[in-house]
Amino acid sequence: MGWESVIGLEIHAQLMTKAKVFSGASTAYGAVPNTQACAIDLGLPGVLPVLNEAAVRMAVKFGLAIGAEIAPRSVFARKNYFYPDLPKGYQISQYELPVVHHGRLDIVLDDGTTKTIGITRAHMEEDAGKSLHEDFHGMTGIDLNRAGTPLLEIVSEPDMRSAKEAVAYMKRLHTLVRYLEICDGNMQEGSFRCDANVSIRPKGEQRLGTRTELKNLNSFRFVERAIEYEIARQIEVLEGGGRIVQETRLYDPIKDETRPLRAKEEANDYRYFPDPDLLPLEITADLIESVRAELPELPDAKKERFIRDFGLGPYDAAVLTATHELAKYFEDTVRHLGGSPKLAANWVMGEVSAALNRDGIDIAASPVGPAALAGLLKRIEDNTISGKIAKEVFEAMWSGHGDADQIIESRGLKQITDTSRIEVMIDEVIAKNPQQLAQFRAGKDKLFGFFVGQVMMVSKGKANPAQVNEILKRKLAG
Ligand code: ADP
Ligand code: MG
Repeated sequence: MGWESVIGLEIHAQLMTKAKVFSGASTAYGAVPNTQACAIDLGLPGVLPVLNEAAVRMAVKFGLAIGAEIAPRSVFARKNYFYPDLPKGYQISQYELPVVHHGRLDIVLDDGTTKTIGITRAHMEEDAGKSLHEDFHGMTGIDLNRAGTPLLEIVSEPDMRSAKEAVAYMKRLHTLVRYLEICDGNMQEGSFRCDANVSIRPKGEQRLGTRTELKNLNSFRFVERAIEYEIARQIEVLEGGGRIVQETRLYDPIKDETRPLRAKEEANDYRYFPDPDLLPLEITADLIESVRAELPELPDAKKERFIRDFGLGPYDAAVLTATHELAKYFEDTVRHLGGSPKLAANWVMGEVSAALNRDGIDIAASPVGPAALAGLLKRIEDNTISGKIAKEVFEAMWSGHGDADQIIESRGLKQITDTSRIEVMIDEVIAKNPQQLAQFRAGKDKLFGFFVGQVMMVSKGKANPAQVNEILKRKLAG
């Protein structure tokens, strides 16, 4: 029997506000434990939460970007549970009336087709603190710096049919929140977290199967592997005559398996009720319009523009618009270069990206900026250096040895384009290799490459390759 897998994701994106969602404490990451949790974050008696408008604007911005409805009136609720990192005994969240609902996001599948994933809702809530298990010798430390950090929980419809689709959706969302500058997307620091809900059903069945919820998925790779493991596990259980238990499972990246963590809570376990300390959130049309005016060009629109205006292929355009920083770097390079987008694209996707990856640097901090890169590419275009020598110059620029012209000058890397000098080198190479010359003339065409190689060696890579080819052809023919 064939099985179909069904996946829905819940993604928590930390909103990039300076202050917490209901207090003025800082949200900066990495401070000394418990130095950034004020009386409100701790839920001390007598305090009152005040909603951070910046967080609301970010939620609205997200809603507009996914074509969602923005609720004119939404309500904050208390979700009650006990945990050491939740001193109030409840989390402020939105339950029945979320601020954003009925959105959608397109993903591109491996075969190039587009699929639309429904986004059920996105609601605002506060983060909890963190339990620290290391460094405390049999005890647990509690750091409440994160308590009260604004989160947007983005809940998808169960629209995905494979681990690959789930990852494609998650990546799309990851790109989008960074374009919108509402979340830094840092998965190591927990700014962008994913829970995956997975079920299977016989192919052709309409009803959904019983799902499990997978936690602890802090990389795209783990999301993919955990879902794949879980699908295989569920198939084995059902084919063995067993049944799936609705539960929360933890992914263990070391063993590459999922294990039961706890029975799944039902909503009524949380005793949700409207928070009496907070008024309903009313969003006016004016606020929505003022947020709409701040919307940046979105990834899909940018990609289309790169194809249309720069003549890039869909693949290049997709790579270059993966983040707005990369897209900006590319566009700035083209601007400084005054055209040649294809050359710029090849370099940004090639040498620049490789060097950034190798050294673990963000593009915004690249030691070779767009203007400097354009300076180098100009020298390829005007034939001062070959593409090959340019790579050497680029490495020197990367290591801080100056701009392209300084390096070309000081290292004597100027391309040789003087025909008579190239002819002298070619004559020399031909004279030294009479046997190869005879073989070539007897029909061994492959030896052409040998001669090119020899000339380039004699010129220390500086002879203009196009000229070498042309003159060699003539001379070898005799
Ligand atoms: P909860 O809040 O209890 O986690 P929700 O109904 O809000 O439950 O659903 C959470 C996520 O689980 C959503 O992304 C939804 O699409 C997904 N989901 C719900 N039912 C299934 C199912 N049978 N199989 C796979 N995913 C599911
Ligand atoms: Mg859930």
